[in-house]
Amino acid sequence: MNKYLTAVASVLVVCLLAACQSASQPVITAITNVTVIDAVNGVRTNQTVVYNGDEIVSVGPGQVPADVAETIDGSGKYLIPGLWDFHVHLSYDRRLTDDMPALFLAYGVTSVRDTGGLMHRMLPIVEKMRAPGAVAPRVWFAGPLLDGSFVVYDGVSRKEIGVPNATPDEARATIKRLKEQGVDFIKIYEMVTPAVFDAMVETAQALDLPIDSHVPLSMRAGTAGPPVDSIEHLRNIEMDCASNAAELLETRLELLRNPENLSGADLRSSLHELQRMPAIAAYDEARCDQVIDSLASTIQVPTLRLTALNLAPPFDKPHWNEALARIPEDVRRAWAASAARVVSDPVPSETAFGEWTRFLTGRMHQRGVPIGAGTDTPIYMAIPGYSLHTELEQLVAAGLSPLEALRAATVRPAEFFGIENDIGTIDPGKRADLVLLDADPLSDIANTRQISGVISKGRFYDPAELLTN
Ligand SMILES: [Zn+2]
Repeated sequence: MNKYLTAVASVLVVCLLAACQSASQPVITAITNVTVIDAVNGVRTNQTVVYNGDEIVSVGPGQVPADVAETIDGSGKYLIPGLWDFHVHLSYDRRLTDDMPALFLAYGVTSVRDTGGLMHRMLPIVEKMRAPGAVAPRVWFAGPLLDGSFVVYDGVSRKEIGVPNATPDEARATIKRLKEQGVDFIKIYEMVTPAVFDAMVETAQALDLPIDSHVPLSMRAGTAGPPVDSIEHLRNIEMDCASNAAELLETRLELLRNPENLSGADLRSSLHELQRMPAIAAYDEARCDQVIDSLASTIQVPTLRLTALNLAPPFDKPHWNEALARIPEDVRRAWAASAARVVSDPVPSETAFGEWTRFLTGRMHQRGVPIGAGTDTPIYMAIPGYSLHTELEQLVAAGLSPLEALRAATVRPAEFFGIENDIGTIDPGKRADLVLLDADPLSDIANTRQISGVISKGRFYDPAELLTN
């Protein structure tokens, strides 16, 4: 109660000083004469959308109700639900962490799912983002990558965001502890054994924690996919789409004994290098269709902006430099240098994997597998918020319609957490997370970049102001 009163008091003070302009205390607001688009209701023209604080109270063609305190003219504009980036790492690059929440909002990303970070780093970040009045998207987090005896992200050759789980008992204890510490879901990583994987699934389900995963190298996608709720990067699915999938697994199981005592990162890389492209070359359509059909209830988050990056390099976009200018200078310089290196030394053969991930995403979508929109921000030059729009473009390039791409960034993430009654469409009773666009996203998905205003938790933000603060 005290905390709440303090928050209310501070908002009032801010309002007096700043004359309650943008990002002010939530009031009853109507967006008038706007075209409303969401993945469930489709397109509704000439609508008045009223929200009271963090709740949408009405959507319809009627007049503005008398109790509305503010109106926003939506003539010629398009209103979509607030977007999700369904795969981010807030703690991955600490030079960026503090700037990420406002960047996400500026680009219309009003919800993020953090798919990996150590708890002692994540807890303060999440607490800050969830504080009353914080200028930040809603956040859900997994805590660390739950790896096996060998850990890929062990803090040696790669950042430390993974933890070991050598036995099923250790896995059960880890997940119980994470639940007590407040995680919203778990993330199973690539080096776990089938026994550890099973213990993780069973424990998470008993504790009501949704499960995100890579396909462990010790398993096949058709086995590991069905019991989990989402899979990232289509990781290792190609190995189960090959005509010799059983034989490939045998080889992996042998090598996972790690006779050369490699690090977790090197062991994983060696298996990817050994099997990924040969598996794609041995693609068996009928086999792969069976695998795909087994994933009918498992959201696939292909992160095409990363996996198919070579098909659409971010630095080739006309707005890349402008977006890059908005991130802290040390990161900006490093990324600009990386981009320059790639441009000066392109490797033509590297498009094959990108083409595969686009193809598989399209094929999965055709066969009814749910697709989610995530970017892996900030890994490999992913500008927070900005990159989600690149992912939407990639999903359309893979065969989703623009409306289906919007579904991947709105309804699907809500379904993962079982909160689709609260979030994901523009309906009375839903949270007031909205993005006002200057152009029609259904005629060109790139128009989601034309943002004229963002409403997060019932507060209106001018993106230009967010980016200059
Ligand atoms: Zn990731």
